Amino acid sequence: MSESEQQRQSRHEAASAAALEARKQSGVPLDQPFDCLLTSVEENFDLAIVIAEIGDQIAGCLARRGDLNIVLIAAGDAAVRRRFTLAHELGHYQLGHGPSIDTTATLNDQSDPEESAANRFAAEFIAPQQAVECFVESLDDQSPTLELVCRVSNHFAISAWSARIRLETSGIIEDPKLIRRLDKEVAGGEQKACYERLALADRDDLCALQAPQLPRLAAAVSESAFADFVGGTISAQQLALAVGASPAEVDELLGGSVG
Ligand SMILES: [Zn+2]
Repeated sequence: MSESEQQRQSRHEAASAAALEARKQSGVPLDQPFDCLLTSVEENFDLAIVIAEIGDQIAGCLARRGDLNIVLIAAGDAAVRRRFTLAHELGHYQLGHGPSIDTTATLNDQSDPEESAANRFAAEFIAPQQAVECFVESLDDQSPTLELVCRVSNHFAISAWSARIRLETSGIIEDPKLIRRLDKEVAGGEQKACYERLALADRDDLCALQAPQLPRLAAAVSESAFADFVGGTISAQQLALAVGASPAEVDELLGGSVG
């Protein structure tokens, strides 16, 4: 469904406002990053969070089973990606979008009103404008380089790509030529050497849990039959049950990839 630029703008503003409300609810001051996003979300919202193998192409999903609202996050994704997916699913939940399944494609879909609203929510929730400005101002060197992108990425525990976009949407880096250069550097993986040179390590939080500690189940989930559900790879039918869609719909959405 297409919408006018004005509708898009007001939808983005509403998503940002909802994210700031949710930040208030999370108790983390607006100018601070989350120590552990997963803990903050689970403690302050009616959501049980699960990190598990959920099929090759699925990044995350928001499901309801009985009284439980559950966010599933792909174990196969890197921690920075899992954090963004978690905030994106929280966005769907807070914006009243109902159950959803996200693939890498839907997470990048800027033309779908609900997906782009959930992304706007996620960016503002993890890295509020005020926090980004405050952090950049605290740096001795504020030049718009890959180093700045890496420092912002590390501070908020988001990917270099998300940090680059956030610096643009915050109005801190606006020059299109500069943006193209940074995109090329990030696409070429140059941030890895930059993190090393600056001795910046990713956050050791619950979104960073690795294989021996996975699947990660919320306490409320581990006591339910849902634990079995996420114990192995989810089938289209099980996933459909959780999100209230038919197996055929799920299969179609995932391009027939889930067995
Ligand atoms: Zn989504």
